[in-house]
Amino acid sequence: NPIQVLLICGGGSSEHEVSLRTADFIERELQKCGDLQLTRVTMSAEGQLHDGSGKLRELRSDRLLYSSNGSAQPVDYVIPAIHGYPGETGDLQSQLEILGLPYYGCGPEASKLCFNKVTTKLWLSALGIDNTPYRFLCANTAEETAKARDALKRWGAIFIKASNQGSSVGCYKVTEEATLAQVLDKAFRLSPYVLVEKCLTVRELEVAAYTYKGELVITPPGEVCAPADTFYSYEEKYAENSRAETHVVAKDLSDAQLGWIYEASKRAFIGLQLKDLSRIDFFLTDEGDIYLNEVNTFPGMTPISMFPKMLQNQGHDFNVYLADLIRSAVNQTA
Ligand code: ADP
Ligand code: MG
Ligand code: MG
Repeated sequence: NPIQVLLICGGGSSEHEVSLRTADFIERELQKCGDLQLTRVTMSAEGQLHDGSGKLRELRSDRLLYSSNGSAQPVDYVIPAIHGYPGETGDLQSQLEILGLPYYGCGPEASKLCFNKVTTKLWLSALGIDNTPYRFLCANTAEETAKARDALKRWGAIFIKASNQGSSVGCYKVTEEATLAQVLDKAFRLSPYVLVEKCLTVRELEVAAYTYKGELVITPPGEVCAPADTFYSYEEKYAENSRAETHVVAKDLSDAQLGWIYEASKRAFIGLQLKDLSRIDFFLTDEGDIYLNEVNTFPGMTPISMFPKMLQNQGHDFNVYLADLIRSAVNQTA
């Protein structure tokens, strides 16, 4: 019998559309695997599942996927291909744990820790991994936001980040005090916590860290180059006319830098108890400092995205990699 794989995409976050493109990629790849039978459903912003024809579907505690006409099909494995809530945040994974269904990617705790930009930093520091200097704001009050004003004075330019977003949503560069209050309002509308980071002049390096046939693989860093007049914003990530450039392998890094990035990635993957996949992003400053910027537990897999390209460059076919994870997870639970 083929393994019944349920691919869930969409979801309730600002990255709903990006998730659909990630799911397109995964769907195309898994169609190459004859022993896997894929069903794709899209989660609406309200959390309902719909199939391709728009019919309502529901995954129940008997591990069957029900259709609105009463029919049901078994599910052996789930791919929560959702960026942001409720996938990358770990909420869906908690439900899958309760159902006892194996799934692709990190567990609920690692997902939650890594998706929250504040807890990521606390964990990285606890693991001894350097990260960008920051201040933490827990409310949009005069007392708290004074920290942002002080940071701006001290650092000259800052990044304000909503704590619980990805794809650069809720991420703003601020250089003038006049715009600060308005930007903080926007960030606090998106999230209960806000991070203020020192703005660095950086090269942006990204590593794919994943499990291939039971072994942890950490690729050499690739690089994304945002245009000089902006940063790697949502538009530069996904718009048709994006001017961002990507390099699957970053040029001109010293052995010491490569070694540092490799060790930090490995320590992060193990220390944060990641599973199956992640994309770990670094900043290399003009002064030669390297900071771990963030850990993406469900990185984008759109045509411009780095994660699939880095696997390919490593000589690893995505479908071989994912099918192997699926088969071994299903065999372990069987
Ligand atoms: P997201 O999870 O939304 O991708 P990031 O923390 O990666 O959030 O920030 C998005 C982008 O903003 C980065 O890829 C980078 O271009 C820019 N950026 C973020 N923080 C800084 C910083 N401290 N200094 C310079 N650029 C930054
Ligand atoms: Mg991110
Ligand atoms: Mg990022």
